[in-house]
Formats: sequence, structure tokens, C-alpha cells
Amino acid sequence: MRLERFEFSQIRMGVDTPIIVYAPSESQAIEACRAAYSRISQLEQQMSDYRLDSELNAVCKEAVGRWRRVSRELFYVLWRAHRLAQQTDGAFDPTVGALVRLWREARRTERLPDPQTLQAARARAGYRLMELCPRRRAVRLRAEGVQLDLGGIAKGYACDHALRVLRRYGLTRALIQMGGDIVTGDPPPDAPAWRIALAEGGETTLVRGALSTSGSTEQFVEIGGVRYAHIIDPRTGLGLTQLILARARARDGITADSLATAAAVLGAAGIPRLQRHYKGVQIEVREG
Ligand code: ADP
Ligand code: MG
Repeated sequence: MRLERFEFSQIRMGVDTPIIVYAPSESQAIEACRAAYSRISQLEQQMSDYRLDSELNAVCKEAVGRWRRVSRELFYVLWRAHRLAQQTDGAFDPTVGALVRLWREARRTERLPDPQTLQAARARAGYRLMELCPRRRAVRLRAEGVQLDLGGIAKGYACDHALRVLRRYGLTRALIQMGGDIVTGDPPPDAPAWRIALAEGGETTLVRGALSTSGSTEQFVEIGGVRYAHIIDPRTGLGLTQLILARARARDGITADSLATAAAVLGAAGIPRLQRHYKGVQIEVREG
């Protein structure tokens, strides 16, 4: 069967989300991609911290210490995020939301938070403030004002699910990108692999796997000659100030996305530790 290449692009989770698929006809490509985008929208409604009515924010609004049952998808992502937080001593931390909000405010006002405000937000972050109960598929928070944030892991997970949807429609030769996260299925019909252009120049290839890039070079605010990136260093409560680009290659998007963010915080020195926990994942970090 002759397959043609189709490319779509929409915005999801605040980023450009192109999908490339090979399909026997345009109508099949459109139908499958529509379903894939709507699956991503559904996940966004579950995991977004921007959307006031997301399932994630409902957990944050629950009374301190009260268990709240959540969807399978949200539970799984929270569980993966919490496990990575334990493995990295909190370098990756899904409870940094209060600090992320301060960073967004600093970006708007071009001023750093005052020490008391920063201190108060730091008290509302820390992965030990989030408890998970797999048996009940429930979450509870142990302090007032904890804001969960899955910005470092949810896009990779959403790409994984979009790929699954396309596969269900019979389209296995596909690539999905959400910002710095890319997930691919089978390669194009006439090629052994997908060719991926890299931000710093050059290219790489990818087949049935995920590649995520994270770092301080794209999103930052400059204050007093210092650049604070949108990734929080939980040790200071502020955005990363070192220049760093981290890349992770893994079998799935949730792993690549979260490990790239973790590696951006930990730096090159953290690679062996991440690789001990995640065999077969390739991590590369450029500093300075
Ligand atoms: P991007 O969102 O640009 O693709 P990342 O995957 O690295 O990049 O995720 C960065 C996002 O992760 C931030 O915007 C924020 O929502 C969240 N975040 C910030 N700091 C941390 C951290 N230390 N651990 C986990 N998530 C973080
Ligand atoms: Mg990430």
C-alpha cells in the first residue's frame, strides 16, 4: 500500500505540537490525528496546572491531609514523578509549583521575590509533602498551599498516548513533538529512521523511541545580569542560573521528558546516578 506523508500542527499544553504521519489517504490521516490531539487535550485537562479546573488543581484544593482519588493517568504520572523525586533527592520535584509561580511573577515584573516570599514558597514545596496510595489510587498533600506541577513530565507522557492512538488507527509510522519532547513510532516508509534536527546544530535519528531536550537556554528571565531559567533548582528555590542543555533518549516519552528535566538540575555529575535507576536510557549534558 502506498503511504503519503501528512503533517499537522496545533497548540497543546502551551506548546506547538506537530504530528507527522504516513497514511494511505488524507482522510485517514485527519481522522487519526484528530483523535490523537483530542487525547492530548484530555490529558491536559487532567494534568495542567494552568487550568483552574484541571484534575491536578482539584487535588491541590483538597483539604490538607485528605485523600483524593484520581484518574489512572494522573495517578501514574504523579507516581512516576514522585519516584524520580526520591531517586534524585528532590532535584526533580513535582511539588515545585509555588516556586514556579514565583518564577513566572519574576518574569513578568523582572524582579526576584523578596526573601520572606521565597521562604514561604519553599515551605510549600518538597516531594515529601505529597503522599500516594496505590491501593486507593489516591493522593494527599501534607501542607497548606502545595502546588503540584507536572510541566517536566506530562508532555512526554502525552506524546506516548498520542502515538498509541495513531497506532490504534493503524498508523504506525508517526512522529509527535511537544516543545522539546519527541516520540516516534516506525520510521517513514523509505527510511531506516526519523531524522531529528538538533537545536545546537546537526541532527540525530530516532525509531520507536523518545528524545527530550531540557535546559536553561530557551526560557529564562534576566535580572541583575543573572539568567534564571524556568527550571527550578529546589536547593535555592530559584530558576537554574547555570547554562545547561540536557538530553535524554529513552523507550518512551514519559521517561525521556522527566529524565531530561532531572539531568538539567543535576548537571553532568548526576548522569551516572540517573543511569543506575534507568538502564538503557542515554543522557547527555552540555554545561557552560
Ligand atoms: P519544557 O517545559 O520547556 O519542555 P522541561 O521538560 O524541562 O521543559 O520542564 C520544565 C517545567 O517543569 C517547568 O516549566 C515547570 O513546570 C516544571 N519544573 C520546574 N522545575 C522543576 C523541577 N525541579 N522538577 C520538576 N519539574 C520542574
Ligand atoms: Mg522534561
